[in-house]
Amino acid sequence: MKPSTTIIIGGGIIGLATAFRLAAKGAQVTIVERNTCGAESSWAGGGILSPLMPWQYAPEVNALCNAGIARYADWVAEIQTCSGIDPEYWVSGMHVLAPFDKAAAQVWCEANNWQYKLDDSELWLPDVAQVRNPRLIKSLRAAVLARGVRLVENTEIINIDIANNCVKSITTQKGKLFADTFITCAGAWSQQVLASTPPIKTIKPMRGQMVLFKAPVGTLQSVMYQQGVYLIPRLDGHILVGSTVEDVGFDKATDSKTREQLATAAFAMLPALRNAEFIQHWSGLRPGSPDNIPTIARHPEIANLYVNAGHFRYGVTMAPISADLIAELISGHTLSMDISAYQWRE
Ligand SMILES: Cc1cc2nc3c(=O)[nH]c(=O)nc-3n(C[C@H](O)[C@H](O)[C@H](O)COP(=O)(O)OP(=O)(O)OC[C@H]3O[C@@H](n4cnc5c(N)ncnc54)[C@H](O)[C@@H]3O)c2cc1C
Repeated sequence: MKPSTTIIIGGGIIGLATAFRLAAKGAQVTIVERNTCGAESSWAGGGILSPLMPWQYAPEVNALCNAGIARYADWVAEIQTCSGIDPEYWVSGMHVLAPFDKAAAQVWCEANNWQYKLDDSELWLPDVAQVRNPRLIKSLRAAVLARGVRLVENTEIINIDIANNCVKSITTQKGKLFADTFITCAGAWSQQVLASTPPIKTIKPMRGQMVLFKAPVGTLQSVMYQQGVYLIPRLDGHILVGSTVEDVGFDKATDSKTREQLATAAFAMLPALRNAEFIQHWSGLRPGSPDNIPTIARHPEIANLYVNAGHFRYGVTMAPISADLIAELISGHTLSMDISAYQWRE
């Protein structure tokens, strides 16, 4: 029997993770990406594998994050086996510094069986992991190629061509591409990509600015979070400081005032950072969704059109489960979890 063909629109972490899983199930997958894979939000993000203060999020967000977290170590090992590139998965733990709602934090940790240590000044979560997202992207890109996925990069999708409640093709500026199944994984641009069908009007860009320092190896050994600002150490001494959540449309500008604010908050949390070298300041556009709840669904009327987008602040964490779910949905296999909360919302 001829293998089914799938086109994935967008090659960020969600598109790459989806391709990696579908290719393992025998599908012939093509990713069509406007830039090079992973150059947008998935590169710009931090790679903490947990909501920052999980007790503040809806159960639908925590359910996906917890399922993603549970799969991460095996998922990263599978990717590395295919690619030979280490994504630097690291169970570094996370310190949440006061002030925060200690009672709510404790209730949440107990209810979710999370290891924790709570005292007057902080909550210590030893099992929180992180991944170096630019390395993960590089590793995933190589892994999907190793599984036979076709990458069509530097190619923008201009239209999804629909006739008789079915996607027939996609139009790119280089011509038309055909497949049996189409999945939109276009992050913050998903609404634009879906303009020719009832689009998902709930997904919109939410800018986040990040600042990068280089300190001696070992200056910081765990993620630190306090009042909206976090520090993420990398194994080679780099330390990321993030982030803002700005509703400014498709504007990836950065500004010196925000850089100062992030640096000042970071120096208060980790005074040794004052001696570190400033490396870079950038921003990325998260695929924002109401309450942080992504869409992982089949189109209500167009049978061969799916969406896997809108993961907002936690797309790196959710990627493995989100990819598994969409692959299960397409193949008709039993779903790993209930996805009724992640339906197509016009
Ligand atoms: C500052 C910041 C910090 C973050 N920190 C974390 C964190 O610590 N932990 C965590 O879990 N998550 C974090 N995130 C969120 C996470 O990065 C995102 O949720 C995730 O990257 C979304 O992945 P995606 O593949 O949907 O989107 P993207 O990576 O944006 O990929 C979408 C792709 O679609 C392509 N595309 C768009 N339109 C078209 C078109 N017309 N034709 C072809 N291709 C198209 C784009 O070029 C892009 O490559 C952070 C994000 C930011 C910005």
